[in-house]
Amino acid sequence: MPFLTEPDPLRGVAEMVLPGIRRLVARNPSVMTYLGTNTYLIDGRDGLTVLDPGPADEVHVQDIVRAAGSTPIRRIVLTHTHSDHYGALPQLAAVTGAEVYGYRKSALRGFTAPNPLDDGDEVAGLVAVYTPGHATDHLSFAYPIAHTCRMLFSGDHVMSWSSAILSPPVGDMVAYYRSLELLLRRDEVFYAPGHGPILPAPQALVRELLAHRQMREATILEAVRTQDWTVADLADHLYHKTDFRLKIAAQRNVLAHLLKLEHEGRVVQAEARAYEAPEDHVPDDLPPGDEKSISPREISMIERDGKRKFAYVA
Ligand SMILES: [Zn+2]
Repeated sequence: MPFLTEPDPLRGVAEMVLPGIRRLVARNPSVMTYLGTNTYLIDGRDGLTVLDPGPADEVHVQDIVRAAGSTPIRRIVLTHTHSDHYGALPQLAAVTGAEVYGYRKSALRGFTAPNPLDDGDEVAGLVAVYTPGHATDHLSFAYPIAHTCRMLFSGDHVMSWSSAILSPPVGDMVAYYRSLELLLRRDEVFYAPGHGPILPAPQALVRELLAHRQMREATILEAVRTQDWTVADLADHLYHKTDFRLKIAAQRNVLAHLLKLEHEGRVVQAEARAYEAPEDHVPDDLPPGDEKSISPREISMIERDGKRKFAYVA
């Protein structure tokens, strides 16, 4: 896959992406978040719009406020409610009094964006493009700065450094395919992702991401056809990950593929038993922003899902 890398960013410094758009990388580097979450500061007529406030990290909030300087932060816009994007929101909103915008149906229990956005809605020149898959509440934002320089803030749907993790039930492979296909019909010339550097000529990567998932799906279907696997064993067999977080991510991706195949009637869950999908992706006892720790409730969901088996439908 033609992924990009970049040198470590200067922490606490907002770098210019284009005139009027700066990127501040949060201090949360990890195997899941690359060098950190990208917070974008976008100049507007009446002040700044902050796209994705980032993780719950007081220092990052201070960095944002410092980068804004004397320009007021008027709006905070969310691509989705995963903790590494949403976490800083309560504090930043409290400090700045900014208006908060996000998808109308939040995937995070206890949070609803006071200013709900739907596909096609516009705020401060950003046009919402509903792109579920990585998360059910994921929005990308087209920013038609000039006719010659169309760009898309692509959140975690399409990132320059890695493909997205899809963890059911908030992650949905059927929706993800559709959202990639949707981007193929659009014509932005570069993407500004939620993690990683700016992505030029994004269509090539979107096409590859889709092709890669289709290949993975075919491999999974063939594996299930020829042998009985648990989700966990199949993930180990296909991904060979040793890092605990990456191992889990692989399992969630395999499960997301299997649920898509089940949705299409090509596999059925074997040993059918009651499966209660959790209502949200942030357990009660996990503070928003603390993406490094996994709660017992999450662990038990992951373990239960890891033991699930699916059978090929001939
Ligand atoms: Zn993220």
